[in-house]
Amino acid sequence: MDTQLLLGAEAIALAAIDAGISGVYAYPGTPSTEITEYIQQSPIARQKGVHSTWATNEKTAYEAALGMSYAGKRSLVCMKHVGLNVAADAFLNSAITGVNGGMVVVVADDPSMHSSQNEQDTRVYGKFAFLPVIEPSNQQETYDAIRYAFDLSEQQNLPVLFRVTTRLSHSRAVVKQQPPREENILNPSKEKRKWILLPANARNNYQQLLEKQTTLASLSEQSFLNKTIAGNGTKAIIAFGIAYNYVMEVKQAENLDIPVLKISQYPLPDKLIKEFTDKYDDILIAEEGYPAYEEYLKGYFGNKKFRGRLDGALPRTGELSPDVVAKAMGVESDTFRTIPSIVAGRPPMLCQGCSHRDVFDALNAIFAEYPEQHVFSDIGCYTLGALPPFNAINTCVDMGASVTMAKGAADAGLHPAVAVIGDSTFTHSGITGLLDAVNDKSAITLIISDNSTTAMTGGQDSAGTGKLAEICKGIGVEESHIRTFVPLKKNHDENVIILKEELEYKGVSVIIAQRECVQTASRKKRQENKK
Ligand code: SF4
Repeated sequence: MDTQLLLGAEAIALAAIDAGISGVYAYPGTPSTEITEYIQQSPIARQKGVHSTWATNEKTAYEAALGMSYAGKRSLVCMKHVGLNVAADAFLNSAITGVNGGMVVVVADDPSMHSSQNEQDTRVYGKFAFLPVIEPSNQQETYDAIRYAFDLSEQQNLPVLFRVTTRLSHSRAVVKQQPPREENILNPSKEKRKWILLPANARNNYQQLLEKQTTLASLSEQSFLNKTIAGNGTKAIIAFGIAYNYVMEVKQAENLDIPVLKISQYPLPDKLIKEFTDKYDDILIAEEGYPAYEEYLKGYFGNKKFRGRLDGALPRTGELSPDVVAKAMGVESDTFRTIPSIVAGRPPMLCQGCSHRDVFDALNAIFAEYPEQHVFSDIGCYTLGALPPFNAINTCVDMGASVTMAKGAADAGLHPAVAVIGDSTFTHSGITGLLDAVNDKSAITLIISDNSTTAMTGGQDSAGTGKLAEICKGIGVEESHIRTFVPLKKNHDENVIILKEELEYKGVSVIIAQRECVQTASRKKRQENKK
């Protein structure tokens, strides 16, 4: 079969196409975006008719994938780790309904928060939902494990959670393809009790889910993803997911004769773990993310033979790397510590010519007249308005929180209560907050900095493009307080007047600052020139 040099994200995408998916659903989020982009650009996926559009948010994506599975087909749903919080309701309940066609839930975690608000570890969600979790350690294993995950999902009638992290998703290695398989035939589920989560049904399904745990653990015992690498001595390592790669890199480079237990499938294979841990006095637990399984293995009384992130053998926060793993393994060499000079730190900043710059300039001009400046912001390129020279925003908590936090502050008596949100984030989860503000007649001014794309993740389609004013009107914002302007230097004075008028209004007002992202615009131009 073919071999290709693929990102981890691309290996997931190719494996899913080869595994016979009928659709992929996703909301863009680093480091998961490239999975769906690859499928959208794949001529084979196009030829096979694999359905793919960017969903409005992760919950709608999840539920659509569940619907496709209900219909008997294989579906893939992708998101970043915080996206699973948005989809959590559907995710947890899908463990109770189970699935029909195979369904794989890919969640890309971002330890070290390269482009995220937190470091949450998706494996904890897997345990929370009682679902099987797969966490591959390299690109080839990622490809193979996706195919396996679809089979596992169909055998166990459960969604399978597939966790990757930034390094794996965004680094390349050679991947060998396996023969493609056909799509499932349309075969909608006939089992009503399973899918209608009335309490009587849900209780029954939940009991069945708990009973399946023994089978899931025994599948982990036999899985090709979990294995022991022989070695000598009294010290050993249990390495999870990509941490296995780091451990093996150090072990091979330093010629260390140390036994390693590799874990990439959960629930934990109890027998394998017990057999391994019984043999050694000092065991390093290398896991990317939370010390979730270190804590579990140490137990409540803190068995001291296990070392890791909890006792400082490894850093408690941030990504692992061969460097930190080498130190924890007692390796003194500098082999893993030299950062090439080509890797320069690049502080983030808004692009020159970005429309958000003009929005913040106008806001800052008007705020010169107000003693207090409180701007509730959201998640997108415009979050960089927090940095100099703008210093224009006060909050950024989660998707959509700008609107609802401004509402709460307005309800508390803060005036003006200004929220800034992007067009894609507005449709993702700002709309419902705006509806709350309308229903409660809260005095907020919402600025939708509309650049007609999801710019921060590379310019994916935005669900509200061209419809934002109509949406706001439709949910009850008074037409006379839905204003639009073009954020350009030449319009600065005019825009400041519009902002001032709406900030003075003691009700819900929306200002749509509309100008296309300059990066998206130039990309489009390049593509058109190519034709
Ligand atoms: S990518 Fe677009 S929206 Fe983001 S900073 Fe650059 S121009 Fe602005």
